[in-house]
Amino acid sequence: KNYTKEDIMNLVEEEDVEFIRLQFTDMFGCLKNMAITSSQLLKALDNKCMFDGSAIEGFVKIEESDLFLYPDLSTLEIFPWRPQQGKVARLICDVYRPGGEPFEGDSRYILRRALKEAEEMGYTFKVGPECEFFLFHMDENAMPTTISHEQAGYFDLGPVDLGENARRDMVLTLEDMGFVVESSHHEAAPAQHEIDFEYDEALATADNIMTFKLTVKTIAKRHGLHATFMPKPKAGVNGSGMHINMSLSRDGRNIFQDPEGKDGLSREAYYFIGGIMKHIKAITAITNPLVNSYKRLVPGYEAPVYIAWSTTNRSPLIRIPASRGDETRIELRSPDPAANPYLALAVCLRAGLEGIREKIEPPESVNCNIFFMSDEEKSLAGIERLPGTLFEAIEELEKDEFIRNSLGNHVANKYIEAKKEEWNKYCAQITDWEIDEYLYRY
Ligand code: GLU
Ligand code: MG
Ligand code: MG
Repeated sequence: KNYTKEDIMNLVEEEDVEFIRLQFTDMFGCLKNMAITSSQLLKALDNKCMFDGSAIEGFVKIEESDLFLYPDLSTLEIFPWRPQQGKVARLICDVYRPGGEPFEGDSRYILRRALKEAEEMGYTFKVGPECEFFLFHMDENAMPTTISHEQAGYFDLGPVDLGENARRDMVLTLEDMGFVVESSHHEAAPAQHEIDFEYDEALATADNIMTFKLTVKTIAKRHGLHATFMPKPKAGVNGSGMHINMSLSRDGRNIFQDPEGKDGLSREAYYFIGGIMKHIKAITAITNPLVNSYKRLVPGYEAPVYIAWSTTNRSPLIRIPASRGDETRIELRSPDPAANPYLALAVCLRAGLEGIREKIEPPESVNCNIFFMSDEEKSLAGIERLPGTLFEAIEELEKDEFIRNSLGNHVANKYIEAKKEEWNKYCAQITDWEIDEYLYRY
């Protein structure tokens, strides 16, 4: 929506909006906000709202802590779940330095910069995500558990699917907020769900992912449930992925399609795949950001483990869904919903564009189930593994200068530092598994 400042002022007046939440996302994918009352809106729209950047993890040092929020006027939305008198609205903001330069630690800016490169090459980057999540019970202290009585599986419906009312409410609320929800379903694991909304230009999609997670969590809570986007909350069943479907268009035409090309795909589509595969190990540090993310990327749970692509099979990292024409797209299956969507889309786009610029040919597609191939067959076919732990992924990111540059020094350095600390903390823990396995026996 192309709102002007006047439109926003009028809307806020007409709709009886009392509070406006100025939102941004921190480096680790957490949504943050500062609420103002409508009396302060004009000041906010003049980009004069300041906050203490040193209080946000990964942002700035205490000596240079003032940062400014510049609201993106096109993102005005009213929260349907807040009181409908004295309503609450939000504006998603870009973060700026006091001198008026974009703040290099703002992940929305990192994505904007990548999109500018695409634009210079004549491309628009469109993305559709598939977010999966679990709905669990809360305990008597309202703390989340990993318990659910539900035993439904893929595509089940009520009464077996106990989440259908919550999911229905989520879909309706998302629609109230301007989402075009395409479908929703029960996923493979008990208590696991997926809601898919329509693809859009990448910046809008990244914003939508953040809004989606907030909405799903908020509505779940209303139903007495806890929604989690943790990648692998339960051992022995599927984890939650956030597959991302990507395409490039030029002058409104999807350029990944080519009826004459092999499998109906254009050269650009192949090179884009080539670029992503070249950099995927470092990209994984961004698309799979938690220690827990790597518990999902194991054989047997529909999540990728090997670096391969296919037009048919679902076991590889990259799949080309069957639709062609305007719907032609590349589906990257490794990302999980804990990722910062701005950074994730930025690194994927950069790698894909490099593929196009450098004409990087992808390896042969693998159209059989990789999990049935022996190690020898895999190594003969040149199929490598994704990083097996957060630590390995961070090491790959450190080695990949191209991806580090795509993030910029500020984000790359702070991210690597924070993730190493996270890894070290994890390694110092004694887990339940170790106690169960070793305490009695040794
Ligand atoms: N939950 C699976 C994952 O971890 C994906 C299932 C599907 O293909 O939708 O990626
Ligand atoms: Mg799914
Ligand atoms: Mg998918």
